[in-house]
Amino acid sequence: MSSNSSIVPCASGSVERWDHEADVVVVGFGCAGSCAAIEAAELGADVLVLERASGGGGTAANSGGLIYLGGGTPVQRESGFEDDTEEMYKFLMAACGPGVDADKIRVFCDGSLEQFRWLEEHGVPFKRTFYPEPGKEPPTDDCLVYSGGEEAWPFNEIARPAPRAHKPRAPGAAGGFLMQKLLTAASRTATKVLEDTRAERLITDGDGVVVGVVARQTGDLRCIRARRGVVLTAGGFISNREMTRRYAPQLARANWRVGTDGDDGSGILMGMGAGADAIRMEAGSVSIPIYPPKEMKKGVLVNGHGQRFINEDTYYGRIGQRALYEQDGRCWLIVDAETYLVNEVGMQAAVVEESFTELEAKLGLAEGSLVATMDLYNGHARRGVDPVFHKKAEMIVPLDEPPYGAIDCTLKGAVYAAFTLGGLRTRPSGEVLRPDGSVVEGLYAAGRTTSGVSAWGYASGVSLADGMLFGRLAARSAAARSKGSRG
Ligand SMILES: Cc1cc2nc3c(=O)[nH]c(=O)nc-3n(C[C@H](O)[C@H](O)[C@H](O)COP(=O)(O)OP(=O)(O)OC[C@H]3O[C@@H](n4cnc5c(N)ncnc54)[C@H](O)[C@@H]3O)c2cc1C
Repeated sequence: MSSNSSIVPCASGSVERWDHEADVVVVGFGCAGSCAAIEAAELGADVLVLERASGGGGTAANSGGLIYLGGGTPVQRESGFEDDTEEMYKFLMAACGPGVDADKIRVFCDGSLEQFRWLEEHGVPFKRTFYPEPGKEPPTDDCLVYSGGEEAWPFNEIARPAPRAHKPRAPGAAGGFLMQKLLTAASRTATKVLEDTRAERLITDGDGVVVGVVARQTGDLRCIRARRGVVLTAGGFISNREMTRRYAPQLARANWRVGTDGDDGSGILMGMGAGADAIRMEAGSVSIPIYPPKEMKKGVLVNGHGQRFINEDTYYGRIGQRALYEQDGRCWLIVDAETYLVNEVGMQAAVVEESFTELEAKLGLAEGSLVATMDLYNGHARRGVDPVFHKKAEMIVPLDEPPYGAIDCTLKGAVYAAFTLGGLRTRPSGEVLRPDGSVVEGLYAAGRTTSGVSAWGYASGVSLADGMLFGRLAARSAAARSKGSRG
């Protein structure tokens, strides 16, 4: 079987013996899976988690730990930011499109304050502080950052800007800390975990209802019965090269895969095999870490035609997506002697010249193209405005101090960090849907195995946040399903 074909389920009639059984079987013990397990167990369900690695954590444990939460969390309020559910909803509807699932975004926003409380109640602490550098996780144990271009055009005109990425109280990247807390919370419930156990196929009955999972445990196949439901939380597919090339060819070009071996698409392929629809499979988060520091936004980004294509002060994930999908991975950040800085990841000017004419020639841009762009930009910048892409006034300065530099932001010269956003089509309740909109009975999913809040656009923190919230909702649905007599 090729590694991008859907995985045909096993017929329950061929199962000779159930090796294990539980009410709810959760596949994957990352952020979505751990929250699903805790929720189902706290509702009284008998829960079994299958995890292919030798311990829980998943990609979430390697992450920055930013969690997109809003609507007026205690951290936002105590750090002096006003936010409400409607403003969060308006922002996400605009920033996560096109093609958003409005019902999912509504549930995500309405559930955000409760999700914050739930995390604190389950041992994940948050300091009540703001960190002024946007984008990535603070190096300190500070909590709140802007992470999706909320304060940049056009979103600052669509919704009142508020920072919403919340990092648990640990210095630097906090994904490991977050997962340690969630795994501890899961261990306080009656949840059972089978590690080194890789789910390989779903098991369906004669009506196509999912009744279990075939898993490989240290070489041996095990049949595991799910009396109420199977919840797929097995991550995305950025580590499956063949699948990425087939479904998300642009992402396959990115040079840094934001994921672990577990992101092999197995959850999506098992779901598809049971009849599920997979949607937005071409979508992905793509970041070029141009900043911090935020002063880098004073530069001017130009494409392979020597023209601007975006406001430089927006989220670097938005810049990366546009650069990869729309500019063929060809762009440079133009700076002058006054604005030049080597950023946090060491991006430096690859070409330096005394004039824009020489710079455009060195970059192989059409004659006059960069010169015209910079004439227009500088003319407006002298008046402190950017009527073309609406960069904020504090990031606008004329670039007129030679020498001029071009920081290489091309696919060849810069980091393009990508992970997949497409996956199984689900309801906010976690029920998995077929292409005709009907439910695959007995099957639930969440996290990057599904297409979630981000249909296309992304903001840092959305993946962990929607994985955790929709993981809980999927578990609730599975736990509430009447015990199957099938299988
Ligand atoms: C460096 C880095 C920084 C990041 N920073 C952030 C951030 O700050 N904020 C944010 O929101 N996102 C961030 N992300 C992305 C985020 O970590 C993932 O998108 C998120 O963890 C997805 O959650 P999940 O529960 O769907 O998958 P995971 O957390 O990866 O969990 C999936 C689990 O399923 C297991 N599994 C897979 N297949 C099987 C199988 N067949 N059988 C059994 N088990 C299986 C895996 O081993 C894994 O444990 C970052 C990622 C990286 C790598």
